[in-house]
Amino acid sequence: MRVKRAEKYGFCSGVRIADMKVRKFVASGGRGAILGQVVHNERVVEEMERLGMRTVNAIEEVTEPVIVFSAHGVPESYHEHARLRGLQVLDTTCKFVYDIHRESRRALAEGRHLVFMGDPNHREVIGYTHDLDPASYHVLTTREQARAIDWSVYPAIEIFYQTTLNTDDFEEAVRFIEASNPNTSRADTVCYATKENQQAARKLAEDPEVDLVLVIGGKHSANTRHLWEITSRIRPSYLIQGAADIDPAWLKGVSCVGLTAGASTPDSIVDEVETFLLGLTEASGPDPSS
Ligand code: SF4
Repeated sequence: MRVKRAEKYGFCSGVRIADMKVRKFVASGGRGAILGQVVHNERVVEEMERLGMRTVNAIEEVTEPVIVFSAHGVPESYHEHARLRGLQVLDTTCKFVYDIHRESRRALAEGRHLVFMGDPNHREVIGYTHDLDPASYHVLTTREQARAIDWSVYPAIEIFYQTTLNTDDFEEAVRFIEASNPNTSRADTVCYATKENQQAARKLAEDPEVDLVLVIGGKHSANTRHLWEITSRIRPSYLIQGAADIDPAWLKGVSCVGLTAGASTPDSIVDEVETFLLGLTEASGPDPSS
């Protein structure tokens, strides 16, 4: 069996910087708690816990002197909330997420109605919308939701994408809004890392040598799930968190496995999966075709 990795996969700059900031903080003797998973990867979260950085679900739960805001960002009001509780903030919000915060505030100030394409329960999207007047925005996940709204009542509309979306899935909904209101503009806010990982995942799945694709990432990682959605339309694909999730039955008759990984997956887990797959080959003897 051979293993082929996607040309681009895994940790993005935003996640790398967040991970590095927290490790530096710990190395300098800092004590803090992380609001929500620092990145959506259970193994990274476990590693942070080992380093003494526990994950909490609310600012009220923090008993340490410092609260860490993750790469996904938080509503602006959380900064004030933390300050009022006497907490210092270690802010690891990705710069691309901050771009959307800034641009959506600008659009709102210009009198535009905001549309966020994405998951209303995802922390990144909560960060954009939590402090807003509910009448000033919509969050959409389906074409049907877009069709249920009269967009012509708004003087102007600006559409933003959650940074890790597969925009193809939302094209129909966005076109519907544009057709309903000519004063609609879209901001291309899907981040470069997501685009590159998605393009490379598609290419990997289309590679005629690849029989099966394994997509590695956290259970709660939206961008990992989108990679799987892309590859599974082209090639049999499985979402795994690590080597332990691989069912040997998937590999029957497979001679080449494609590997890709979400933006919150450390390289060490990709290496672990590849080593496991190559180990299976060695255990079952030499490849008779080589
Ligand atoms: S996936 Fe993109 S937006 Fe999210 S942390 Fe990484 S670089 Fe930033």
